[in-house]
Amino acid sequence: MIVIKFGGTSVKDALSIKRVLGIIKSRLNNKPIVVSSATAGTTDKLISIGNDAMKGNFEKVVKSIFEIKNRHLTIIYSLIKSEKIKLRAEKKLFEQISELSDLTKGIYLLKELSDRTLAKISSYGELISTNILNYYLIEKGLNSVLINAVDYMVTDSSYINAEPDFTEIKKRLKKTIIPELRKNDVVITQGFIGISSDMNITTFSRGGSDYTASIIGASIKAKEIEIWTDVDGILTADPRIVKSPKILNEISFKEAAELAFFGAKVLHPSTIEPAIKNNIPVRILNSHKPEKTGTIIKGKIKNSNFAVKSITSKRNIKILNIYSTKMLFAHGFLKKIFEIFDKYKTSVDLITTSEVNVSLTLENSNNISQIMKEISEFAEVKLEENKALVCIVGNNLKFLKGIEKRIFKVIGDFKISMISQGASLINISFVVENNDLEVVIKNLHKEFFK
Ligand code: ASP
Ligand code: MG
Repeated sequence: MIVIKFGGTSVKDALSIKRVLGIIKSRLNNKPIVVSSATAGTTDKLISIGNDAMKGNFEKVVKSIFEIKNRHLTIIYSLIKSEKIKLRAEKKLFEQISELSDLTKGIYLLKELSDRTLAKISSYGELISTNILNYYLIEKGLNSVLINAVDYMVTDSSYINAEPDFTEIKKRLKKTIIPELRKNDVVITQGFIGISSDMNITTFSRGGSDYTASIIGASIKAKEIEIWTDVDGILTADPRIVKSPKILNEISFKEAAELAFFGAKVLHPSTIEPAIKNNIPVRILNSHKPEKTGTIIKGKIKNSNFAVKSITSKRNIKILNIYSTKMLFAHGFLKKIFEIFDKYKTSVDLITTSEVNVSLTLENSNNISQIMKEISEFAEVKLEENKALVCIVGNNLKFLKGIEKRIFKVIGDFKISMISQGASLINISFVVENNDLEVVIKNLHKEFFK
């Protein structure tokens, strides 16, 4: 059994869904469980609908629901020719749209949008897309069956940020997806959606269909999880900066996590954690170019010819420099600082410390002035802006002599504010000026991938 997940851009219109059919057909021998996202942009639109209804902007709500209905009707009409199947797909869509309208009326009247209601509204994106995909596969002669996520994806009651209950999910998968997959060619199901034990619809956090794929894959011990998206795989550098970066064939779980944290937004590392724990390979593929092999993420990888796997970066970060002689020989100083970050829910990417100085990089800085104010009560604090964080990742870095020399040969002439090299030595990170970022990345890429 394999799990194949299609992201929003892979099912965004009739043409894309035709490509999805080809991909599914080519994998029938592996018994695929297909997890689908909502069509691109639909979840955003549903969330706006909820907010507009609450604010009393009902005209906009009606218009948006109408757009969702038309977009999906167009897809149905261009994909499904058989009158009988078209009618069934259409009937279900109309039911879904009418439920959604009723729900928005409720929100409008009560002027209230709880997380529980928001989760229910958001779920329609996936409910609608999987209905269409399933009928399209049936039209094309496949034995396809739709199993709803609410029949097995049991979660806690954090409605829009749910966490799975693996024990219950495993039990239910044995009664739902697994027997159906035995009888049919393919099972379709929704990503992103779950159900709490008190029978309310829940969703994972945004982008949660990857999580669904990984939870199912881990629970049934799938051979592989395929994440179909709109990029060719994990690249050696940002293609907006480096003209032709290479696609990585293989990357370890650890490397992938480092890359994702530092802005290679292909996949959020926590979403594949269930797969990692169960040692199930995750492959990133481009549904617009299905002939490409993509990047496989797995526990153990072959030794690569390249010292560095990938160079990523994040622009527009800020550095907070904290200085205090009280730090000398004192304990509890870092705790004091981090309690403040915790209080303002602000996360920190990179930290360097010396005896009297702590420097941190921040991306989300909504509360920066309050944070600085509180720190200034016990230390000097200074903010530096317009910086960029560069992160060089590679499993092999720790075995290589002279890697730092090669890095500094390239970046030595630029202003560098912070350098960090973890003891695990899977990444080396440093901070440069925003304005220097492009040249720095280009030069590093030339040095390590020429
Ligand atoms: N449709 C959901 C979202 O946009 C889940 C996903 O696409 O993965 O967040
Ligand atoms: Mg996604």
